[in-house]
Amino acid sequence: MRSGTTPPWLEDDPVPPKSPLSIWYHDLYTMGIDPTARFPRDRYKMLEERIRDAPLPSPIEFREPGLASADDLLRVHGPDYVDRFLSGRLSDREINRIGLKPWRSSFTQRTLLIMGGSISALEHVFQHGGISGNMAGGTHHSHADFGSGYCVFNDIAICAKIALEREDVERVAVLDLDVHQGDGTAATLRDTPGALTVSVHCEANFPFRKVASDFDLPLPAGAGDSDYLDRVQEGLDIVSGFSPDVLLFQAGVDALASDALGKLKVSRSGMRLRNQMVLSHVVDQGLPCVIFMGGGYSDPIKHTVDAFLDLFADAAIANGRMQRTTVLGGRHREREAV
Ligand SMILES: [Zn+2]
Repeated sequence: MRSGTTPPWLEDDPVPPKSPLSIWYHDLYTMGIDPTARFPRDRYKMLEERIRDAPLPSPIEFREPGLASADDLLRVHGPDYVDRFLSGRLSDREINRIGLKPWRSSFTQRTLLIMGGSISALEHVFQHGGISGNMAGGTHHSHADFGSGYCVFNDIAICAKIALEREDVERVAVLDLDVHQGDGTAATLRDTPGALTVSVHCEANFPFRKVASDFDLPLPAGAGDSDYLDRVQEGLDIVSGFSPDVLLFQAGVDALASDALGKLKVSRSGMRLRNQMVLSHVVDQGLPCVIFMGGGYSDPIKHTVDAFLDLFADAAIANGRMQRTTVLGGRHREREAV
């Protein structure tokens, strides 16, 4: 879909209230970051409150994550890096590169909860089909042996590896629509058969040394809705041609014009249209999809929270439409509504 038309799954009758969208969330997503950090930690708490208070057309259910294990991390990351992070022995230089300062001890638990939330969201779509999400994560700047750009470990790559271990999964697609290029995901999945990485991003933005994805779709600084959505459609066409068994959607909203780090000029309605384009593809294909929240640094942060509320509200409707069918291994299977 494109050109501002409302997709049919948004227009039909109300979704039966029996099929909530499950999203993983924990108070430590906010509280695990020091309040004096530059990172806008309140966005998680604000979004949780907005989702709880908003009169949503289709329900959303919060689920609490457990901690990811060291074995989960080792699917993607080097044992030395994992061990030094878990035992609090990263160097000042490594911590500076991650950028979440001042470091605090609760940050270890926060990191493992976010990784656990993404893994649980992935397992949920394999059990139930449809869409699920993590209200954090999408940590696409994390490489095998170092963290960067607010990202410690790479939950997208970890989920791709876990998915590809399943017998009924041959292909996993990563569609990264965060304004920053998905360098860590590209690097960590580069030699993984069955994994496709697609990144739509602002070329003149962090990371300045990019790592080539399978498909990079860059935009110049200052690009607005029309150019951005054209690139998103190109990305979706590539995903469609790959015919994945599951889609990992990095849904950062830092392409908004209000974003302090984005350098693009996408409107709130353009961002919502972007989400609906992805969700329409997911609904049409019966494609299981995990949403990773990704970046968003608007000033004021309210604009970021608005855009994420739009994302999860529309994802809840789309998920409700998908509850009767699920696709695994390219096969459509009828299943009862849950
Ligand atoms: Zn970003």
